Amino acid sequence: MRISRMFYRTMKEVPKEASIPSHQLMFRAGMIQQVSSGIYNYLPLALKSIRKIERIIRDVLVESGCEEVLLPVVQPAELWKESGRWEYYGDELLRFTDRKDNEFCLGPTHEEVITDMVRRNLKSYKQLPWNIFQIQTKFRDEIRPRFGLMRGREFIMKDGYSFDTDSEASRETYYRMYKAYEEIFRRTGVDFKAVEALTGNIGGSLSHEFQVLADSGEDLIISCPRCAYAANAEKARTVFPVDEAEVTTTESPADVHTPGAGSIEEVSAFLDRSPRDFIKSLLYRVDGKPVLVLLRGDREVNEAKLLAVLQGNTIGLADEETVQSLCGTETGYVGPVGLNDKVPVLADRSVEGRSGMVCGANRKDYHKINVCWERDYKAEIVDDFSFARSGDPCPECGAKLEEFRGIEVGQVFHLGTKYSESMNCTFLDSEGKEQPVVMGCYGIGVGRTMAAAIEQNHDESGIVWPVAIAPYEVVVMPLQMNSSEVIEAGEKIYRELLEGGIDALIDDREERAGFKFNDADLVGYPLQIGIGRKSLEKGVLEIKIRKTGEKLEMSPDAVVSFVS
Ligand code: ATP
Ligand code: MG
Ligand code: MG
Ligand code: MG
Repeated sequence: MRISRMFYRTMKEVPKEASIPSHQLMFRAGMIQQVSSGIYNYLPLALKSIRKIERIIRDVLVESGCEEVLLPVVQPAELWKESGRWEYYGDELLRFTDRKDNEFCLGPTHEEVITDMVRRNLKSYKQLPWNIFQIQTKFRDEIRPRFGLMRGREFIMKDGYSFDTDSEASRETYYRMYKAYEEIFRRTGVDFKAVEALTGNIGGSLSHEFQVLADSGEDLIISCPRCAYAANAEKARTVFPVDEAEVTTTESPADVHTPGAGSIEEVSAFLDRSPRDFIKSLLYRVDGKPVLVLLRGDREVNEAKLLAVLQGNTIGLADEETVQSLCGTETGYVGPVGLNDKVPVLADRSVEGRSGMVCGANRKDYHKINVCWERDYKAEIVDDFSFARSGDPCPECGAKLEEFRGIEVGQVFHLGTKYSESMNCTFLDSEGKEQPVVMGCYGIGVGRTMAAAIEQNHDESGIVWPVAIAPYEVVVMPLQMNSSEVIEAGEKIYRELLEGGIDALIDDREERAGFKFNDADLVGYPLQIGIGRKSLEKGVLEIKIRKTGEKLEMSPDAVVSFVS
């Protein structure tokens, strides 16, 4: 490409809402234009980089056995009503009606559409596994679009979905995609960390986010300097100050199946809220019925304790009748429950006139009932549990946890059967029995990854692209446009670079050397080749490495092999 023909203009001033470096630099380098709040034109330089990120994603996913499709942006409300998310998704879902009054939305994510696509083809276990992705425009009516492409309303996402016959196979797929994500972000050249995460609007029980570490990141990451433990602060755990030795089980509280119990996955799928809201929802509403979480202590402590259970255990919910039949109205001891066999966390009695219970269990659908706190367990109730913050002990190894800011560029979710059950996406297993397919889903923000790379790689002069995702790898700059020798030498190198498969461009504008250098630094081409009259006389060219500022001189013949 010739800069003289490029649709391109750099800017000196930045709009005042551009508060972080990546937004400012993308604007100044002429990469993006805002059309409306959170909605952008991607100009040629931005699209070049985006295409490279997409290419890396495609390469790695195809190597990992995934197949590409393209699903519609416009999605019928019926599918969202089937999954239950038409009601639960909230205002981020942009809804509208067509001329015949049919309801639609713009896809913020594609679980419904893909589950529908798959159920129409899926008959037998022999067809599985399937792992399907797309790279496509999403729309989310973000409450506060900001930071340029980082949090847009319309944005490009890679979203992938896996379909397996059972939970074990699905988990294997999950960890294979986790590995694929590590490879993708490694190839793009960003410094990242995979962290345990909550599942939010998407649902499921197991999830990791891929976070690019940067001071401007909106997320707080808690990680251990000694072991591999790392989590989004929303999810971070710490160890509980309860000694195993204090805990003794004397009687034999029966393991009983309690009706109304569900896994976290089921309950949060049903409530579709972030756990903090989820906890509030638990206090007030489950399946339309009021349910009270019976815990002693003030609300905040209760929330923290409940979260502990949510993080580590299945939970059980029951209505008044169930509680009464389990506990008897008067005595009403429920629990205790533990994060594991050793640490009881919750134990309480029903409160007069109120109903409901929550308890944890070590196995799905098994809860210890008719257990009496003082009689069966001698440990103290742990009231001082709190979310892990820096300085707290690591839940895995006890070392002091650290805090970082991060930008969430990708997230993987083990969904289980949330969508396949509600939308009836089933297959016949080897015994001819109908089973719901077990799903996972996997997202990467393509534009956000580009922005995050800039956030992490820039200096006072401009962007410092990781080579793999730089819009162009090399810029050739003839420095005196009134010299035919200089121009010819520049054109020759430019041609040779292109022939050598290098993604090069030439700054053939009638501009001064200083102007070209400033632009080259601002846009951040990894290698800049300056061709000036003086160095030509010496038979050399000047090459600047953007990242280090290092300058090398070499003969024109050596350039192509050096660059490649
Ligand atoms: P966030 O917590 O930042 O709102 P999210 O958890 O809602 O993101 P996911 O549903 O996990 O997002 O979507 C997958 C990926 O899509 C995210 O990891 C992120 O990289 C990207 N993404 C999500 N929302 C936006 C947005 N508004 N603008 C740009 N990229 C986004
Ligand atoms: Mg979001
Ligand atoms: Mg998030
Ligand atoms: Mg996410």
